[in-house]
Amino acid sequence: MKEKSSKITIAIDGYSSTGKSTVAKQIAKALGYVYVDTGAMYRAVTYYALQNGLFAQDKLNREKLIASLQHIHLKFIFNAEKGFGEMYLNGLNIENEIRSMYVSNHVSEVATVKEVRSYLVKLQREMGKDKGVIMDGRDIGSVVFPDAELKVFLTADAKIRAERRWLELTQKGENPNLDEIYQNVVERDHIDSSREESPLTKTSDAIAIDVTHINKEQQFQKIYELAMERIQNKKATQG
Ligand code: C5P
Repeated sequence: MKEKSSKITIAIDGYSSTGKSTVAKQIAKALGYVYVDTGAMYRAVTYYALQNGLFAQDKLNREKLIASLQHIHLKFIFNAEKGFGEMYLNGLNIENEIRSMYVSNHVSEVATVKEVRSYLVKLQREMGKDKGVIMDGRDIGSVVFPDAELKVFLTADAKIRAERRWLELTQKGENPNLDEIYQNVVERDHIDSSREESPLTKTSDAIAIDVTHINKEQQFQKIYELAMERIQNKKATQG
C-alpha cells in the first residue's frame, strides 16, 4: 500500500520586500519542497506587456493584454547553482529583467486584471497540486490555497523594507535610488491592498509575523518551526 505523504502546503503572503522569497527559498531547501515565486509570474506578464507595447503613456491596455494571455507561456526552470527556479517567458530566461524598477513600477497595475489573475492562479494550483510546496505572494492563503496547512503573513515598517531592498539591489551591482524604492513599496502596498480582485489581506487563520526588528535567521527559524509543527501534526493524525 502506498504510504501517506506528510507533505504540507505552505503559503507565505505579505507586503512587498518583507523577505518572503528569501525565507521561502530557505525553507524549501531545508524541507526538500518546491518553491514557487508567484510575484515572478506577475512580473513576467508585466515584462511581456512592456515589451509588446501594451502600456501607452504608462496606461495599460487591459483588453489587449487579456487577448495576449494565450501567447504568454511561463515556466520555472531550476538553476542548480542558484538553488531556485528561474523565470522563463516563451523559452527565454527573464529572471534579471523582471527584477528591474521598470517592471516593479508597472506590475501592480497588471496584477489588478482579473483575467491575468485567474490565468496565473490556475498555473499555481497545478504546480502545488502534489503538496510539498511553499509559495509566496499576496493571495496564496486567501485564494490559491485556502486549505494550506500553514499560512504566514509578513509585515514590516515600509522604511525598513525600502532600505533592505536598496541594499539587495546595491549588492547586485545596481545603483538604486532609495526614495524611488520607498515610493514604489508604498505605492504597491496601496494598489495590492485596495484592488477589487484578490486584495492583499491576512486571513484569520494566517500567522502574522512582523519582521521589522528580526533578522533573516530569526525569520527562518520561526517559520521553520511552524512548518515542522504542522508536518508533525499531519503525521500524527495519519496514525
Ligand atoms: O512578490 P513581488 O514583490 O515580486 O510581486 C510583485 C507584484 O506582483 C506585487 O506587488 C503584486 O502587485 C503582484 N502579486 C500579486 N499576487 C501575487 C504575487 C504578486 O498580485 N500572488
